[in-house]
Amino acid sequence: MINILLRARPDILALQPYQHAAWEPSLERMHANEMPWRAEGDSTCAGLNRYPEPQPAELVNHLAELYSVKPDNVLVGRGSDEGIDLLVRTFCRAGQDSVVICPPTFGMYKVSARIQGANVIEVPLIKEQGFALDAPAILAVCNDAVKLVFVCTPNNPTGNALDPAAIESLCRQLTDRAVVVVDEAYIEFANLPSMRVLLERYQNLVILRTLSKAYALAGSRCGAVLAHSEIIDVLARVITPYALPTQTIESVLKFTDAAHVQQASQRIAEIRAERARMSEQLVRLPLVRKVWPSDSNFVLVDCVDADRVLRSAAKVGLIIRDPRSQLGLATCLRISVGSPEQNDRLVRGIAQATGAAA
Ligand code: PMP
Repeated sequence: MINILLRARPDILALQPYQHAAWEPSLERMHANEMPWRAEGDSTCAGLNRYPEPQPAELVNHLAELYSVKPDNVLVGRGSDEGIDLLVRTFCRAGQDSVVICPPTFGMYKVSARIQGANVIEVPLIKEQGFALDAPAILAVCNDAVKLVFVCTPNNPTGNALDPAAIESLCRQLTDRAVVVVDEAYIEFANLPSMRVLLERYQNLVILRTLSKAYALAGSRCGAVLAHSEIIDVLARVITPYALPTQTIESVLKFTDAAHVQQASQRIAEIRAERARMSEQLVRLPLVRKVWPSDSNFVLVDCVDADRVLRSAAKVGLIIRDPRSQLGLATCLRISVGSPEQNDRLVRGIAQATGAAA
């Protein structure tokens, strides 16, 4: 067993997993208590009367290719949210173990940890350095109870990518001690390669990828955990037996074929161009104090009067995110980059609130 798995919950390592109905596509199924007929109008390939293949091989192989890793380094699940939850449940004993998070950051790390009864240690990003990772401070809090360190790059809701060298130093210095979970939900919008090239070097590195953002498939609920094959094997024991719905499997395969990947890269380029254009326009508005640089498909905007900005957005039919309860963001709002028309409407709406020209 790889050393980092000694940090997983011993009861999970010893768990006898549920024996799901054997996957034998060459045989007709009379072993899973399913109906022999489809519902009328069921147009899926596999048939919704049948349980889907657990960890469907075609999808696993396909995502392995998409993310340039080997299939045994991939676990597919219902979005990155499920990956986060599986990691916390696999590594953290309730009431004993801890996770480290770097606020302001994505809220589910803390929520998943709390649901599991794990302690949450917060090591803030350094706002004065553009929300940079504080690797020395993270290392300083990593006692024996810390099992997982979550870093999000590019980070939500600040938008910036974190220094890959700082993340790698965490992997190196926490080898055999804690898992470094690198959430790359927005990496396709950044000018940075994925950290997956480091998977072979660091057994304690786990990467989260999602189909929800760059591939426009948030409604399909699909994400991938990329990790050492032994970590993947343990997570596969914890995930529910038929985790991915048939519609998810079929839609992700369909919408990530070569033509769609090509289209996604065009749209990513368009979002990046719109991100720059919208940022330039926003920063000229009297109600805006600062637009933080972004490597994502959203921008963090420091506002002179955030309530007024929220109201003016709603007035033109748009809803933007209010992250003001988060550490260091007391006057900030988060705006997803929309279509050119939506971005123009938002800027015009905020400008109109003060009578400024858009
Ligand atoms: N990680 C980050 C940083 C996110 O912002 C989100 C969703 N907003 C997720 C993970 C969850 O994504 P998914 O749709 O794959 O569950």
